Amino acid sequence: MSTRPRSEGRAVAASPGIVIGYVQKLIHGRKPIPERRLAAGAADMEVARLKQAVKAAVAEIDLEREQLSKLGSQDPLMVLDAHRMMIADPELAHMAGERVIADNINAEWALRQQMDAIQAIFNQSDNAYLRGRQHDVEQAGQHILNQLMGQQLQVPADTAAASDPERPIIYVGEDFSVSDIVQMWRQGVAAIITEQGGNDAHNIIVARGIGLPALVGAAGILKEIEDGDLLILDGEQCLWTLNPSAAEELAYEKFIEAVSISREGLAAFALQPSRSKDGREMKLMANIEFLEELDMAEQIGIDGVGLFRSEFLFLNCKEQPDEDLQYRCYAAIIRRMSGKPVTMRLLDVGGDKACLYKQATNRDYSGSNPVLGLRGIRLLLRSPQLLSTQLRAMLRAGEHGPLHILVPMVTSRNEMLQVRKLAEQLHDGMHLKQPLSIGAMIEVPAAVLVADSLAEISDFFSIGTNDLIQYTLAADRSDDEVASLYQPEHPAIQQLIYMTALAAKKAGIPLSVCGELAANPEWTEQFLNLDMHALSMSMSNILPIRRFLSKQSYHPALPPAP
Ligand code: PEP
Ligand code: MG
Repeated sequence: MSTRPRSEGRAVAASPGIVIGYVQKLIHGRKPIPERRLAAGAADMEVARLKQAVKAAVAEIDLEREQLSKLGSQDPLMVLDAHRMMIADPELAHMAGERVIADNINAEWALRQQMDAIQAIFNQSDNAYLRGRQHDVEQAGQHILNQLMGQQLQVPADTAAASDPERPIIYVGEDFSVSDIVQMWRQGVAAIITEQGGNDAHNIIVARGIGLPALVGAAGILKEIEDGDLLILDGEQCLWTLNPSAAEELAYEKFIEAVSISREGLAAFALQPSRSKDGREMKLMANIEFLEELDMAEQIGIDGVGLFRSEFLFLNCKEQPDEDLQYRCYAAIIRRMSGKPVTMRLLDVGGDKACLYKQATNRDYSGSNPVLGLRGIRLLLRSPQLLSTQLRAMLRAGEHGPLHILVPMVTSRNEMLQVRKLAEQLHDGMHLKQPLSIGAMIEVPAAVLVADSLAEISDFFSIGTNDLIQYTLAADRSDDEVASLYQPEHPAIQQLIYMTALAAKKAGIPLSVCGELAANPEWTEQFLNLDMHALSMSMSNILPIRRFLSKQSYHPALPPAP
């Protein structure tokens, strides 16, 4: 019986799985960065040393890539590609070389400064994804620093061979790079925990991609543990428990069994159609922002993409992506779905995304409330060039498979009419084989109130419940202070969804839901009864909702079609 103290904690993000194992601390042998001024005339040699380190870091990544590509999953490869690109990016290595020359300092110091400078720029972004990329800069830079300083993480060769075969080893460290994780995975590690890291940190994406249970952002864990401590890593609930009681250990053993039975059960639903108990179909589709999210598409058996938020393509580009770049991105998604339908939303940005707002309008946002300002279709109609470029790129991509174009933030018939006319004009001029399908996002109460009129000029509707709730209840969806007033169950929301469903049915156009409510099982039966054609949600919710749907029965809530 262990006499070591028990403790527990939470992490920021997890790769799923539960592991009970023995802890081993794995600390990088990283010394502080040496900082020194160079002797006169030594700068060129120092730049050459930096270039050599960059080359070696790229070679190291290429080797890892080659070994990983045998695994099949695309995520780790993408992460390595991203790091490789960053290492080779002139912004990092070349600019660090410039610092060596300008300040006459050693390569490590110059590189560290350049990494800090790039991270500071990402840190200022108001986009959480871009802020999260600081971690990639750190990891890409560390590859080069490791080469410069001749340091590698030393993973013991016998990773998999714990003294108790029932209890594997869990590595705990400050931060593990993608390469560290790949190396550990190759040696058969059971699970990992890091003190640092956020929700979309690339190392956790890789851990998920290779199926390695993990926690990142487990702040303070290192000072609690000693090698050999027993630890429960709970990647299902983002928790860890150190030196658990015998009762806790037993409870977790049972939990592990239950999770594995439930997973096996869920997996069976990947092959099932999305239907109620009595056979009524309601498609279950995915909300995505990036192509790579579709890596799991077959494993889950999604019925299509119900919402592609195109703004993320724009956020990842320094300049507005041109028609060809947009076309390639949209076509890749449509091709990837091999004939299953894809709904792509036109750019939905406003003053909340300052850099994009400036890109689109050539001026800074000056309003006091971006959510009620020039956003979505309002902004696009004021930037005709941006709108027609995006429409053309989407229409071209639509030749590769069934595409539906979704118009965000519609509040009036006139807005929808303007976009529709432009889309028709472009479509006619491009002599395309596939028909045009363009629909309105119903996410503002005004759109519901004029839904009959909107339905006449829309090929479909998709309800964006996130904004619909926010605008109807006048409760900012991102403000903690009014979180209790942001109530999906409010009768006003039920009424608005009913009215939209009625208008769609009268007009005979398909209706779907793509806000978070689509993944809420408390609403599944209601949506079924309101004749929704599809629910679109994040990929991880599709199987649980499909299982839930299979237990519901259809009781029509709308009057029969006229
Ligand atoms: C919505 O508003 O419900 C929606 C799906 O769009 P977003 O969350 O991107 O505003
Ligand atoms: Mg919205």
